[in-house]
Amino acid sequence: MILVSVIQKPTRVCGGCTACCTTHAVAELKKGMNETCRFCSENSCQIYPTRPRNCQAFHCEWMKGWVEESYRPDRSGVVLDYFLTDHLLAPVLMIWEYREGATADSLVWEVANQSLESKINVMLWYKSGIICLYLPPDRKLSSQLKRVIHASREIQVKKFPALVGWGLE
Ligand code: SF4
Ligand code: SF4
Repeated sequence: MILVSVIQKPTRVCGGCTACCTTHAVAELKKGMNETCRFCSENSCQIYPTRPRNCQAFHCEWMKGWVEESYRPDRSGVVLDYFLTDHLLAPVLMIWEYREGATADSLVWEVANQSLESKINVMLWYKSGIICLYLPPDRKLSSQLKRVIHASREIQVKKFPALVGWGLE
């Protein structure tokens, strides 16, 4: 089981990875999702000592020790980002596609399946802009969340391919 616990503190360092500098939005820089940050050079942040607070605070799940060392986001093409609290969908595992097609990897579906079995919602953010939300079988969406989903053109809620989760279609 990969999702043994939520380790809050990072146990690995980013090294040359800058995947989340593309996948994630940074409000302080007015940078949107799936846009490479203007301060991102090939393997590093050009303003690292003074980077925004949101950048300093973010640690993907690979940094916290989930999945194998070799699955570093710039190599796997996938950024894992888990929210336990303070999120409309929590608990939710966000899976961000850094490299197009990378979420087809079997390890991604293994992690997604394990999350759903542990009653954790799963949201896949494809490079194309499509967002897919997968829910554990008995999960009911709040009316607030339904409004958010129905107002979005990008979010699709559907059956989990591995038949573990169920959607709303
Ligand atoms: S995706 Fe993870 S390992 Fe890569 S730069 Fe961001 S926090 Fe570091
Ligand atoms: S400021 Fe630096 S750490 Fe933050 S997104 Fe840009 S390149 Fe990445």
